[in-house]
Amino acid sequence: MPEYCTRCGVANKKTAEFCVSCGENLTIEREKKADKKDESAQTSEKTLYRSRTNKMITGLAAGLAKYFDMEVDLMRILWVIAFFVSGSTIAIVYLIMAAVIPLEPE
Ligand SMILES: [Zn+2]
Repeated sequence: MPEYCTRCGVANKKTAEFCVSCGENLTIEREKKADKKDESAQTSEKTLYRSRTNKMITGLAAGLAKYFDMEVDLMRILWVIAFFVSGSTIAIVYLIMAAVIPLEPE
């Protein structure tokens, strides 16, 4: 499949570095496309889900730990500390988050 020049529209070989017609640098356009792909992959990875595989109650702590790139045990400890500090408030927050955040897709 040929690669079309973004400046003049002429078809070039996929491996060509410069457009045969206008001399446009085609490798720069390819790099831009690759960057965009990387970004979208990262954002989809950063969606907050409850964990299906590593759950104690609802999988929320494991999901949050993954989202914030933390140890699951540390996240659970934080929840427990928050519970002792704020009591029922954090329990309500936990239940609301568990209800709102979807389970990760299988
Ligand atoms: Zn061109």
